[in-house]
Amino acid sequence: LEPSYQFMLRIVLPGGKTTPEQWLVLDKLADQYGSGSLRITTRQAFQLHGVLKWNLKDTIKNINDTLLTTLAACGDVSRNVMCNPNPYQSEVHSEVLQWAERLTAHLAPKTPAYHEIWLDGEKVTTSEEQGEVEPIYGPVYLPRKFKIGITVPPTNDVDVYSQDLGYIAIVEDGKLAGFNVCVGGGMGMTHGDTNTYPQLAKVIGFCTPDQVLDVAEKTVTIQRDYGNRSVRKNARFKYTIDRHGLDWFVDELHDRLGWELQPAREFQFAHNGDRYGWVKGKDGKWNVTLYIQSGRIIDTDSSKLKTGLREIAKIHTGDFRLTGNQNLVIANISSQKKAKISALLEQYGITAGGQYSALRRSALSCVALPTCGLAMAEAERYLPDLLDKLEPILEEAGIRDEEINIRMTGCPNGCARPALGEIAFIGKSPGKYNLYMGAGFTGDRLSKLYRENIGEDEIIDTLRPIFHHYASDRSEGEHFGDFVIRAGYVQAVTDGTNFHS
Ligand code: SF4
Repeated sequence: LEPSYQFMLRIVLPGGKTTPEQWLVLDKLADQYGSGSLRITTRQAFQLHGVLKWNLKDTIKNINDTLLTTLAACGDVSRNVMCNPNPYQSEVHSEVLQWAERLTAHLAPKTPAYHEIWLDGEKVTTSEEQGEVEPIYGPVYLPRKFKIGITVPPTNDVDVYSQDLGYIAIVEDGKLAGFNVCVGGGMGMTHGDTNTYPQLAKVIGFCTPDQVLDVAEKTVTIQRDYGNRSVRKNARFKYTIDRHGLDWFVDELHDRLGWELQPAREFQFAHNGDRYGWVKGKDGKWNVTLYIQSGRIIDTDSSKLKTGLREIAKIHTGDFRLTGNQNLVIANISSQKKAKISALLEQYGITAGGQYSALRRSALSCVALPTCGLAMAEAERYLPDLLDKLEPILEEAGIRDEEINIRMTGCPNGCARPALGEIAFIGKSPGKYNLYMGAGFTGDRLSKLYRENIGEDEIIDTLRPIFHHYASDRSEGEHFGDFVIRAGYVQAVTDGTNFHS
């Protein structure tokens, strides 16, 4: 007898875009082969959990039949390219999404092995031929995964500084002029190893839209050639840049491009969260951003979320957009369909999260236990309980509607980007977390360790006086992350090399 191994499948969705037809297929696959739920990841992808080994091939085939793929959703290649989720907000947003799709296609592995193994395609090539098959990755691919995100200021909802390679759209006279390019971000680290740390990407210049693919390709090849292949913990691109220096990287990039980036242009971020509720797009159609706790699409006693979204998918003629904050935009809704979709949302108890505190609406958590093999502590299953206990304190302090980014992960790999949480918990062991504070509200500063290895009682006892202090002493418009630095709780961390000092 073979053990009943089960797997997680991740589905690539550049910019988080899904059609209603694809939604219905994934919804069905979650019931038929998965654990009955769908999960929106912090990279705008879907995860299907609990797929048994002997159902993998059928599940992957069904995913590909609906014109989606699991290719390069994992592995040491460029992952799902993130992008502002709502292309209907403006023409620029729509154009930017197309660049996310082009980047995904350009950097997708070209090997036929995926099709041969999972889709009964032709036989794979030999390893000698692989170099020709993979013109960008070569025969051994990258030393580690590689993450790309594009954002449109003033929104930084893809946490562009957490990406290996980030593009910040520059809009001039209402048109997309190009992108500021930033490199070398990443969230992961290892507890107790100060040679590992989260890092912020640095802006190195500006490129025009037609130069985007070239910049990405050459950046990836530099990491391919110079990334650390001996020590996996130091293999991410951020360490390559920190080891050689940013100037070295820019020179190397210019050499490989054969042209130079222009000086970076002005831009400003206002926040890194989602804006909930209904908005009308430039084209007169409607978009509604829904709050999805931890990105988990499942029916519960309080909300028939999965059923309701299935019923909406059956009548919706626009599309669904997964956000990098694990929420969902039902996009491109005609005026005629708006009332019907509103009624379905109400019928199934699906909301934009207005009934919750702003802290809860600004929360991110990774899947952690019991699904992730690397988890040391709970995240998705525990954060809502912790929030239940923190919300009365916020009420007491009169800051229930204050947006504070809070993030929790089950290990320091950082899938929910905890180093960019104004309050962050990283699991150490069951029930114990390191508490970090002080990240920037716009995602431009890292958090700093404040308390180590603490359980729930200590978390609450620690945060209660800080919440009250913030409520009484904050300056006009001062965000929590800025306050805890000004008040001396933690020091500001603007470069990952100072994260542990
Ligand atoms: Fe990622 Fe660690 Fe969370 Fe697993 S436990 S999902 S590896 S952050």
